[in-house]
Amino acid sequence: MGVTHAVVKEAWEKVQAELERTIGEQNFHLYLKNTLIVQLNPDIAEIGVPNLTIADFVEDRFANDIMASIERVQGYRPATLKFSINGHLFRRLRERERANRDERPVDPAPEAPRTTPRREPIPRRRLNAQVFNLNPRYRLDNFVVGPSNKLAFNCAVEVATRPGRTYNPMFIYGGCGLGKTHLLQGIANALLQRHENLHTLYVSAEYFVNQYVQALTSNAIEQFRARFRNLDVLIVDDIHFLRGKEKSQEELLHTLAALETQGKQIVLASDLHPKELEEFKQSLQSRFVQGMVAQLNTPQFDTRLALIKSKLGPHRERFPDGVVSFLAEKLDCNIRELEGYLTQLSALAAMTGDKLSLPLVQQALTDFLAHRRRLVELSDIENVVIAHFGVTSEQLHGRVRKRNIAIARQVCMYLARQLTQHSLKEIGRFFGGKNHTTVVFAEQKITSAIEEDPELKATVNRLSRQLNAPETA
Ligand code: ADP
Ligand code: MG
Repeated sequence: MGVTHAVVKEAWEKVQAELERTIGEQNFHLYLKNTLIVQLNPDIAEIGVPNLTIADFVEDRFANDIMASIERVQGYRPATLKFSINGHLFRRLRERERANRDERPVDPAPEAPRTTPRREPIPRRRLNAQVFNLNPRYRLDNFVVGPSNKLAFNCAVEVATRPGRTYNPMFIYGGCGLGKTHLLQGIANALLQRHENLHTLYVSAEYFVNQYVQALTSNAIEQFRARFRNLDVLIVDDIHFLRGKEKSQEELLHTLAALETQGKQIVLASDLHPKELEEFKQSLQSRFVQGMVAQLNTPQFDTRLALIKSKLGPHRERFPDGVVSFLAEKLDCNIRELEGYLTQLSALAAMTGDKLSLPLVQQALTDFLAHRRRLVELSDIENVVIAHFGVTSEQLHGRVRKRNIAIARQVCMYLARQLTQHSLKEIGRFFGGKNHTTVVFAEQKITSAIEEDPELKATVNRLSRQLNAPETA
């Protein structure tokens, strides 16, 4: 290693000291101590880390801090920041893990959460017919069942066993991250495996619409129809995408009718109950409810416990029982988020090379939750409110006092108070240069209006869900 590298190493040590100061000693020791510098110049900062999980994690959380520290120490901000896996660090972490794991056998790799478990062989011929790459992780046999999803799961199993016989159409609905896509693709994967001769197709509603529009413009509607009507099983995800798209809805209606008269299976999923879908043809809504409608709910404690245990897989041993039940208690969110937290915590465990202690997990969780709140932006709130109330951005930011505009504005402020950490002043400034008393008033107004008006309450909760946040009202 030449002189230049010695210089780089010394610079990196200064950057590390600076980082330790900015992100705090504990964070630094957990996340950034076991790193080394590969290159450092105005074009690139390349940092060696022990494994991919850590690379992703550090990049997500500390990329900005790293760049800022380099800038303060070196006087420039590298054009790119890159993480590479370093063999030496990798082995060192492995050894430490092995030492900590006593007599247990060595598990394959620290970045285990990225490796997919058993990959089910999907027959080639059918795979070619698939538009979407079905996720091999989405299977019925690894779907964790509890009161929140039991009905939907049982129906899915029935459909996958006897397609076209019992529940037709089968309609699954529920909020974001609760397992709709997992169930739908689980059905598709099972069918492709067990009923190889059946022609099964899984698509998103968006794909259906795009294909339809393309077929119309290229005069290929016959081919389009031949494709979607000569199936044994049609599975369409995210039906809510069809909102307000009248012609596509009409086409889907005919597609479903054509399939049903031949006794073919249809499976659909959406974020809302068919009757709650706005700007949908009534005839389509009626068809949706003709078969079986099953809801997916947020899982309760026992199911969360089972989910966590199942999702941790090989990382389970790093999570003492007390930590697992603490997590099941705290993480009353959707399952996608729950997986996100578990991945981060597994990364944390991989970094410390040891079992996670309860205080550490408590601190990490507080930290994650703080990050999550900041994820909702004022402009996101604005967008969902505009879509729901049918007002324009201009009206929202303006001073017009028309009733529906005023309510839309107040709902914005209310949501901003619940879901972001912006100050009253910032919220007021964003929504039309109001002063902070207006924001306080709006918050109080909506809080009390919700008590008396179940419709408003449902609206506010739905908007929160769209923003991927827990219900607020
Ligand atoms: P949705 O389509 O409803 O937004 P997804 O099906 O994408 O939700 O689920 C989000 C994540 O949660 C996926 O990784 C999925 O595997 C997981 N998940 C959801 N429900 C379950 C369950 N009951 N058992 C195991 N994993 C689940
Ligand atoms: Mg989905």
